[in-house]
Amino acid sequence: MSELNPYEVAVRRLEEAGRLLSISSDVIRILKHPRRVIMVSLPVRMDDGRIEVFKGYIVLHNSWRGPYKGGIRYHPQVNLDEIKALAMWMTWKCAVVDIPYGGAKSGIECNPKAMSKSEIEKLTRRFTATIIDDIGPFKYVPAPDVYTDEQVMAWIMDTYSTIKGYSVPEVVTGKPLSLGGSPGRGEATGFGVAICIREAAKILDLDLTRLTVAIQGFGNVGFNAAVSLAEMGAKIVAVSDSQAGIYSPEGIEPKKLYEFKAKTGSVKGFPGSREIGRDEVLTVECDVLIPAALENQITSKNAGEVKAKIVGEGANGPTTPEADAILNRNGVLVIPDILANAGGVTVSYFEWVQNLTRERWAEEEVKAKLEQKMVKSFYEVYNAAKKHNVSMRTAAMMVAVGRVTDAFEKAGLFP
Ligand code: GLU
Repeated sequence: MSELNPYEVAVRRLEEAGRLLSISSDVIRILKHPRRVIMVSLPVRMDDGRIEVFKGYIVLHNSWRGPYKGGIRYHPQVNLDEIKALAMWMTWKCAVVDIPYGGAKSGIECNPKAMSKSEIEKLTRRFTATIIDDIGPFKYVPAPDVYTDEQVMAWIMDTYSTIKGYSVPEVVTGKPLSLGGSPGRGEATGFGVAICIREAAKILDLDLTRLTVAIQGFGNVGFNAAVSLAEMGAKIVAVSDSQAGIYSPEGIEPKKLYEFKAKTGSVKGFPGSREIGRDEVLTVECDVLIPAALENQITSKNAGEVKAKIVGEGANGPTTPEADAILNRNGVLVIPDILANAGGVTVSYFEWVQNLTRERWAEEEVKAKLEQKMVKSFYEVYNAAKKHNVSMRTAAMMVAVGRVTDAFEKAGLFP
């Protein structure tokens, strides 16, 4: 058993929740396995005329509570066990915030940073055409994830609609506004992380305006969490990206850092900051730590050095179970991924509802509904943690697995 295999970790956490809830081993056996795994190879003509073949994975984990839902990731390290774990986590995430979806995930092994826009477009359209019968508004509704964005979603929608012969905005979420995207979707995950941290500070009796924050990863989630927390009065003191870490006890203005990174390609060298190691951001002096990059960042090796009192998981699976045990022992409050970063899929759901009803909601309405959902879910998990005397992660799993199992018990097993 490896601390670092995300699928094994996902199964371990499922089994633990099953045990605590006394769920039948039959149900846990079903839930351990994804319902379908699709592997595709995607030939794409590159700009230099050569044909490259990319590997793609689609994992549909469970649909008892609704259509499969989950993002598409483009990353050089994508692999099947990772996508299987991420698909299972989507099932729990949708259940924790009680939106009517199951869980899925897709990934393409590629390095989008080394590809031109037109190569990424061809890859995306080829992928969509290849899985045309596996996605759909009531089958599997993809969304952005690591290194995919609203442009990629627009290409998916356009390819799907072109092949079907009519416009189908509800096949994918995280689209640009002009194609039926929802206001507030881009900021949603980071905003949701910030709301969870605000509520965690309340229960720990900490004043948010006096808290310092370190963020690993300055993509969509890290940036938007930084903006929301800075607006709430917290001070961002450390940020890292895939190239470097920076530290500034006086505080980092997230929007200025964003502009700087847009120009230079990295947070490295941001005026007024000093450079620290990329991984040092996890153990730097701070009150709140937000891992918002990839899996397996806080491990048994560095968990003991984490100084933060609150960890808000912006990424999926950033903390290994071994690290979790160390953080719990040290009294760190960990807001688990399936709760902390569920704001993204929640606004994906709002987008899908707007598309299906051909409605458009105002940004204030979306934000208010998201905030309500996050706060309600936060306290449902917190109360379960208190009731069962377990960590927030275990409590979130218990809430989620309980809801998914309940759906199965009502529906029964076909045939
Ligand atoms: N990729 C995001 C996640 O991991 C969003 C998924 C979605 O909106 O469907 O939660």
